[in-house]
Amino acid sequence: MSSRKPFRLTIVHPCVGRPRGMKQYIRTWQMECLPAAMIAALTPPDVEKKFYDDRLEPIPFDEPTDLVAISVETYTAKRAYQIASEYRQRGVPVVMGGFHATLCPEEVGQYADTLVVGEAEGLFEQVIDDYRHGCPKSFYQSKERPQLRVTPDRSIFQGKRYLPIRLVEFARGCRFRCDFCAIQSFFSATHSHRPVDRVLEEIARVRRPGQMIFFIDDNLTSGLDEAKELMEALIPLKIRWVSQSAINVCHDEDTLDLMRRSGCQGVLIGFESLHADSLKQMNKSFNLMAGGPAKALANMSRHKLSVYGTFIFGYDHDTPQSISETVDFAIEHGLFIAAFNHITPFPGTPLYERMKTEGRLLYDAWWLDDRYRYNMIPFQPRNMSPDELAKLCLDARRRFYSWSSIARRAMAPVNRRTLYLLRNHLIINAMHHWDVEGRSGLPLGDESWTGKLIPARQRQ
Ligand code: SF4
Repeated sequence: MSSRKPFRLTIVHPCVGRPRGMKQYIRTWQMECLPAAMIAALTPPDVEKKFYDDRLEPIPFDEPTDLVAISVETYTAKRAYQIASEYRQRGVPVVMGGFHATLCPEEVGQYADTLVVGEAEGLFEQVIDDYRHGCPKSFYQSKERPQLRVTPDRSIFQGKRYLPIRLVEFARGCRFRCDFCAIQSFFSATHSHRPVDRVLEEIARVRRPGQMIFFIDDNLTSGLDEAKELMEALIPLKIRWVSQSAINVCHDEDTLDLMRRSGCQGVLIGFESLHADSLKQMNKSFNLMAGGPAKALANMSRHKLSVYGTFIFGYDHDTPQSISETVDFAIEHGLFIAAFNHITPFPGTPLYERMKTEGRLLYDAWWLDDRYRYNMIPFQPRNMSPDELAKLCLDARRRFYSWSSIARRAMAPVNRRTLYLLRNHLIINAMHHWDVEGRSGLPLGDESWTGKLIPARQRQ
């Protein structure tokens, strides 16, 4: 029998940030963490795995481990570097991947002993193998997109109190090229999907009575034929599901019918703006196709599908009046819920490059700057001050989630077509009403952390 000790991997999911004295992390941000479950699934079975979710529990930095894996997003980068520094101080190497690692490799490489650029499938197995054999590299990158055949290992979620919604991935990426979107930058405007039978197997395993399935795809209908194949297969399962899609699906009668019959309750649609100039600037003029947002919403309503609309403000043609008109539109058209956010220049996106070229970024790296807080505007808008834009976004949320707006939207036939939906509408909107300002001012990184950021060892 081999006496070799098993290799130990610790997977950590960083939170966005935490002010001093925060007792409980923002509840609406406590969904299952699929990237961590993917990393766990890619790890050989004889490796001892631990998973800590920084949003839910303290990280036991002193617990012995051989390697730490962190998936980094722009909003969690600062906290990820704090966590990496804690481990590095204890002599434990850290591997980092994820969106931010791919879009900002020079920065992330400063804090990671090993950097994984691109999707983890096909690379992470190699990382583990190399670490086990004492020959890790500092950089791994995939040459092409991998086949998506792995099912997330949810055993790592055991005992953790996530929101009662089941997250499942069907497809990744999107074929559009909206200028603000990190997804199109990460996947180079390509799209790939998992085999339908694997997704069905996974749903059979994870579904719970009364719980919704959330297909977390960036754009579920980016590959329309594959999405329709999935929906056909979902019909006999009689599940309830929600997802995210580009607006073009709202003009496709066959697909809308299929969505409804397969249990779709509603879809997040990125309307972004109602104004042609702004949509043109963001390379999203397709949102005005076939009658535009109003027609799209009428079609959705006719097929009994609710809509979570997202809007972004701060493009060069936006004015206080255009923002106010957008909120009117969202209320009048009975959106189930809506998000009104300022545009965020994520590094690696065309928007970021444009803002940088025009000298309009207010911070070198807003995601690392101690002065920056969640919901602050990190760039100079054209027609207003950053503070004004922040206030207009907040006012939009306040108005949309006022009790009178909630009551009015609850009366929209599409939102009260079943008691289940009406109840959900009222609960979710009430949560938003109480949480309109909840995240504003949240620091990025843990404010009470007193350590020092420790860069990784010199690259090989
Ligand atoms: S449609 Fe959505 S996912 Fe696709 S590039 Fe645009 S914003 Fe990104």
